[in-house]
Amino acid sequence: MGAPGRYTGRDLVTFADLRTLSRDVHECRRCPLGFTRTQAVPGVGPPTARIMIVGEAPGQNEDLQGEPFVGAAGKLLDQLLGGIGLSRADVFITNILKCRPPGNRDPQPLEVEACSPYLEQQQRLIKPEVVLLLGRHALARLLPGYESISRLHGKVIVKDGVTYIPVYHPAAALYNSFLMGPLGQDFNAVKAYLDRLDERRRVLVAAAAPVMKPEEQLTLFG
Ligand code: URA
Repeated sequence: MGAPGRYTGRDLVTFADLRTLSRDVHECRRCPLGFTRTQAVPGVGPPTARIMIVGEAPGQNEDLQGEPFVGAAGKLLDQLLGGIGLSRADVFITNILKCRPPGNRDPQPLEVEACSPYLEQQQRLIKPEVVLLLGRHALARLLPGYESISRLHGKVIVKDGVTYIPVYHPAAALYNSFLMGPLGQDFNAVKAYLDRLDERRRVLVAAAAPVMKPEEQLTLFG
């Protein structure tokens, strides 16, 4: 167990599955947040989820309950998912930081550095078809050097073989109601992307199906 201020995220072992990773997060003391949290919040969702959602950090409710997005922003996230025909059962939800920064302040670079290997390993284990980046902190960590959230929200971006869609953070839309419309459109863009993937898959399956010879087709009709 490290001492506060000892940022040692890079020395994480390689986890065999999400359960072992979560257990390690609950014991983590790789940065000072491990000493101030109530509960760590590793993330929830099926290990086979097509969609991974990455927020910023646990807030007060998440810190108390040990689950991501259980407060007001979480309710809005549920509505947005419902609006495109999805629910929590379809997605894996996690954050850049697995522990609450005191007073909900912004994540600090060394905390992000220490915690990010967990996120990288979650991505490796889940292999989602698309990663939704909720807000500017998730965008800055996973697509560093890219443009701002106001320019990139709703766009499909492929980097190192991973597909990302940055969207506005639900908490930002609760704070600035003019973001509510664009946020709904961002989720429509996610649905459109998933629909395109499904269609491409249908076409590939149809193309790979063996073509019947005319005499075989005749036998179908006796
Ligand atoms: N709750 C979370 O788990 N993450 C956020 O980014 C905001 C609220």
